[in-house]
Amino acid sequence: MTPTRQGSFRLFKFKGIAVHVHWSWFFVAIYSVSIRVPNYASPAWALAEYLALFLVVLLHEFGHALACRQVGGAADQIVLWPLGGVAYVAPPPRPGATLWSITAGPLVNVVLLPVFYGLFYAAGAAGAFEQNPDLFRFLRALIIMDVSLLVFNLLPIYPLDGGQILRSLLWYPLGRARSLLAATGIGFVGGLAIVGLAVWWRSVWIGIMAFYLLANCWQSFQQAKAMRQLEKLPRRPEFKCPVCHASPPVGRYWRCPACGQNFDPFATAAQCPHCQATLDLTPCPDCGNARTQRSWDASIRDA
Ligand SMILES: [Zn+2]
Ligand SMILES: [Zn+2]
Ligand SMILES: [Zn+2]
Repeated sequence: MTPTRQGSFRLFKFKGIAVHVHWSWFFVAIYSVSIRVPNYASPAWALAEYLALFLVVLLHEFGHALACRQVGGAADQIVLWPLGGVAYVAPPPRPGATLWSITAGPLVNVVLLPVFYGLFYAAGAAGAFEQNPDLFRFLRALIIMDVSLLVFNLLPIYPLDGGQILRSLLWYPLGRARSLLAATGIGFVGGLAIVGLAVWWRSVWIGIMAFYLLANCWQSFQQAKAMRQLEKLPRRPEFKCPVCHASPPVGRYWRCPACGQNFDPFATAAQCPHCQATLDLTPCPDCGNARTQRSWDASIRDA
């Protein structure tokens, strides 16, 4: 339910993070500029306003990506599409790391606000608005845009940033799976409220947004249920994932890449009992990172 590299092209790469733009974004860009044209005496300002929006969304996504890198997570791609930007971040599965990766996005909007206000007051004090009323409208639009993006993103509707922040906070008392169950539950209620709003305002655009949110919320709810099942399984305390420190479950939950049959690599020293192939890297069911069997061995690592 999120855009991928498919149907998008790479715009540029900064600090190892590739920025992609989805093709559908261009139609929305043309539409967005055209509805802004009547607001200004010169259409160039409408284009400038839209480019500013593009830049603000991009900076927000970079906030997520760079914060995620900072806490040791993976983030190498940002895709801009009509419903905004998506930063593909995989923070380490810890509440603090997740909280920082998510909060850094809206924090960019918070930091930008005094910058935009400063520009607005400086231009006003210099008397620039009398000479160019379009500049006044442009700077006012920047402030409204930044505040709107901030407020919208902070709604506690999973997977919006607000919903993910709520989830990270609930992670401390409830644990990884139950916090996601709770946040997606609240997200459903919020998503349905947005559907109601779309009907009330007769807005197709808000309807599409609500559908997108609900579909993603549902997907995460399923993920939370699977996580919950995983949490209930008996574990092997003698092994620990070198990335998230979770012990692997006891059972045949790994698939042999050579013969396709399931086996338990922790019972067989990573050797498939069906075809004798050896698993080079054993993926962690909890965090998805694959590491050598040796690095999973708690006794070797702690020694
Ligand atoms: Zn965000
Ligand atoms: Zn095999
Ligand atoms: Zn792990």
